[in-house]
Amino acid sequence: MQIPFAKPIIGKKEIISVNKVLLSGILIHGQETVDLEENFKKLTGAKYALTVSSCTAGMHLYFFSINLKKGDEVIVSSQSHVATAHAIELTGAKPIFVDSDPYTGNIDLKKIEKKITKKTKAISIVHYLGVPVDMYALKKIAKKFNLKILEDCAIALGSTLNSKHVGLFGDVGVFSFHPVKLMTSGEGGMIITNSKKIYDKLKYIRSFGVNKNFSARKLPGLYDCNFLGFNYRMSEVHAAIGNIQVKKLKNFISIRKRNYEFLESKVKKLNNIFDIAINRNNKKINISYYCLHVILKNKYAKKRHSIVAFLNKFGIGTSIYYPHPIPRLNYYKKKYGYNKNDFKFSEVLSDHSISLPIGPHINKTHLNYIYKCLKKVEKNYGKIKK
Ligand SMILES: *Cc1c(COP(=O)(O)O)cnc(C)c1O
Repeated sequence: MQIPFAKPIIGKKEIISVNKVLLSGILIHGQETVDLEENFKKLTGAKYALTVSSCTAGMHLYFFSINLKKGDEVIVSSQSHVATAHAIELTGAKPIFVDSDPYTGNIDLKKIEKKITKKTKAISIVHYLGVPVDMYALKKIAKKFNLKILEDCAIALGSTLNSKHVGLFGDVGVFSFHPVKLMTSGEGGMIITNSKKIYDKLKYIRSFGVNKNFSARKLPGLYDCNFLGFNYRMSEVHAAIGNIQVKKLKNFISIRKRNYEFLESKVKKLNNIFDIAINRNNKKINISYYCLHVILKNKYAKKRHSIVAFLNKFGIGTSIYYPHPIPRLNYYKKKYGYNKNDFKFSEVLSDHSISLPIGPHINKTHLNYIYKCLKKVEKNYGKIKK
């Protein structure tokens, strides 16, 4: 059996829709991106939504728009995709990394205040594997020090806190439509916000800083440029895929939930090998059910790479979220140095965890097979080399 960690579910409808766009000749500035933004507002309850070419582009766009520059600092989770830090670093500002909370994998809220200085301008958090950060506590800190908040919601589509969608607590929330995420547009991303002021500014900067996009011009050439800007737009082709995927999302998430709960109940029986990494015993939260994340215990922890290889040999695709605390990655380590004692729990997640597949491409037969292979890890421990 071959079970990839993730697989985009693309059907006839996506193909028909992409064909239609291609034949229409309108490949940018059309109705598909507008529709995707409308769909996203309905989905999340946001007042404003803006399509972008990727989550990374969206995060960089926001940080650029608030004039982050050399000499500024931004507090950021150490356990995330490198893009979360790059979006800050690209502006010239310095990312100030904070370790993870052992209970949720999210940024350790208790450790934030100590890292705030006069130079701090913003906080960037990731809802780690779709588990909502306690945004009420975070907003208190941000308010006290007058800091902006960006929520990296790349794998938190469907995650809520007190029934409110993540991404709506901070100044902006940014989503990813990369093929392994909860829905895809091929490549792509979305920024949501409840602030008209932020939305208007981002909209211009996304498209070169010009004040009228092509469809808003009465005559060719009637536009001016007020800001420095990028081209971070999404194409109509990508949005067409996204609009079909949005319709499937509810079904995707319900399959994920069912798979997650089934595999979780099985893995709990293997509690001498693994711990479930994420505690979701919090009635106020809804997670996005992105993957089942386990931490290897005791003697097993030392053999993570070999255990991953062992599972792969049986056709089980896994992933690691994320393989290094960001500050331990070469680029950041060389530039800012790395003290492992500051990132103890982030290192546990990077070095001892495995993310197991539960996506909508997986059924109960697959899950039973995964469980069977996980049980073999114990029996074969001696044979699995370090
Ligand atoms: C995947 C991911 C990103 C990058 O998203 P792109 O759309 O590929 O730019 C950023 N942050 C997190 C937490 C991610 O998992």
